[in-house]
Amino acid sequence: LVEEVLHSLKGKIEKYDLTLSKEVEEVEILGDREALLIVLMNLLDNAIKYNKPQGKIFLRIYPEEHLGILQLEDTGIGIPMDLSQRIFDPFYTVDKNRSRETGGVGLGLSLAKKYTELQGGTLTLLTSSEEGTAFKLSFPLAPESDG
Ligand code: ATP
Ligand code: MG
Repeated sequence: LVEEVLHSLKGKIEKYDLTLSKEVEEVEILGDREALLIVLMNLLDNAIKYNKPQGKIFLRIYPEEHLGILQLEDTGIGIPMDLSQRIFDPFYTVDKNRSRETGGVGLGLSLAKKYTELQGGTLTLLTSSEEGTAFKLSFPLAPESDG
């Protein structure tokens, strides 16, 4: 699923001259494909859109106890940490002029959070500074088929 999302964003990543690196362990989670696509597309869209020229995106997937974790880091303009909750509010945008692309209405993160939580997961802003931003997603692992 992640590969599919990355493939569809390849052109956009190249257009912004960004470098993407990833460290992916096989993790099987319980979730809805379309909902997960929306979550990943929105987080990656932000990591691209709010990045700096020649910026980097780092994606890591790994299991942690009974959870599948996806961590997404970028080297973008950052989010003031006192807004760490507000950015998940519908129609909230940090600054009308900060997006290089027009048309951001401020729904991406609220959708991503809702769709994550509907699937029993969590989405949090881990850290952010002028050096960049890191989000963390966690989802329950799929029950093992051998029970
Ligand atoms: P939309 O996603 O609806 O097109 P948007 O990107 O403005 O619009 P959200 O995705 O909900 O809205 O993000 C809310 C705000 O949080 C953004 O306006 C932006 O200022 C900030 N933001 C989100 N992700 C990042 C990031 N990776 N780096 C810097 N700022 C971010
Ligand atoms: Mg967005």
